[in-house]
Amino acid sequence: FPEIAFSGRSNVGKSSMINKLLNRNKLARTSSQPGRTQSINFFNIDDRFVLVDLPGYGFAKVPLKVKKEWGRLIDDYLYNRTNLVGIVQIIDARHKPTKDDLMMVNWLKDTGIPTIIAATKVDKLKKSQQSKQKKLIRETLQLAEDMDFCFFSAKTGEGKDQIFNFIVDLIEG
Ligand code: GDP
Repeated sequence: FPEIAFSGRSNVGKSSMINKLLNRNKLARTSSQPGRTQSINFFNIDDRFVLVDLPGYGFAKVPLKVKKEWGRLIDDYLYNRTNLVGIVQIIDARHKPTKDDLMMVNWLKDTGIPTIIAATKVDKLKKSQQSKQKKLIRETLQLAEDMDFCFFSAKTGEGKDQIFNFIVDLIEG
């Protein structure tokens, strides 16, 4: 099945996003399957596609060895999974993207895998702050004009449709 992977730094809201996407759309019988590695989780959605929960990056105080292992895990996954059709790259809507976010996005640009940037926790932003944040994010990550971008909230469900449209386009195209 085609795979869509979710990537973001730890605590950014990745689990909440995946849960929101799964629950609200009543995509029956999601099951966590044992992956090829310990820390990548696979959710089979109705035998149509698979959501891949990549381990979060950017943990502040882990030894370099662990960071390197994380890097190798993600690298192996991104380069070797032939079924991978797209990435949902999650960042925090409230903050300037971190160095790790930038590194990850540059990595994704290099691989050429279709990506949507999902800025989550937008419910914590005032409406009046949104366009300024969007601009900051686009500039910091040096996003091309045609790069998909959406605001998301696991609280309100905002942005859910955009992410689903991104996924549907990938699995039907
Ligand atoms: P993960 O480590 O990336 O999987 O992050 P989690 O999904 O566990 O979320 C980390 C924290 O952020 C939790 O306390 C969540 O309740 C909170 N959170 C996640 N998404 C949202 C959101 O869209 N809005 C708000 N207000 N809080 C969120």
